[in-house]
Amino acid sequence: MKIEINKVVQINYLLTDADGNQMDASNGEPLAYLHGHHNLIPGLEAELTGKQAGDKFTATIPAEEAYGEKQDHLVQSGVPKDMFQGVEKLEVGMRFEAQSEQGFHSVVITEISEETVTVDGNHEMAGMDLTFEVEVIDIRDATEEEISHGHAHGAGGHQHD
Ligand code: ZN
Repeated sequence: MKIEINKVVQINYLLTDADGNQMDASNGEPLAYLHGHHNLIPGLEAELTGKQAGDKFTATIPAEEAYGEKQDHLVQSGVPKDMFQGVEKLEVGMRFEAQSEQGFHSVVITEISEETVTVDGNHEMAGMDLTFEVEVIDIRDATEEEISHGHAHGAGGHQHD
C-alpha cells in the first residue's frame, strides 16, 4: 500500500532546524495523520506521497513549504502591560493565547520596555527551513468517520474528549 489521499499513516520523525537543533520528535510514539487533509505542513506531505511502510527518508523543507515566512504585521509593539493582568512577572519568551478577529492564536513576548511589551504572533517555526528524518511505520485506509473529521483516530491520532 502506498501513501495517498485518505490513508491513515503512522510515522516516526525527527525535526531539526538549519543548525541541527532538535525542534520536535515522535520519540518512539508514532504520529498518525490523515494524508491529503492538511494535517502536516505541505512540503512534508508532498515528500510522503507514494511512500510505503518501512521507507525512510530525510527531507529539508523550505520555510514557504513549512510554516511560511515571518510576517511583520503579526509583530505588535507598544502593547500596554495592563493587558497582561494577573501575570506576576512578564518575561521575554512567555507565550499567551491572544484573541483577535480571526479567533485565538498564540503570541510570544519578544521585548519588554518600561510600560509596554512587543508580542510576535508568528508561528514559532515561521521563516525556518526544517529538516525531517522520517520513517513510515504503517499505512491503512481511513474510516469514513476519519475522512469526515479530517484527521486520524486511534493510537497517535486525534483523541476526542
Ligand atoms: Zn475525529
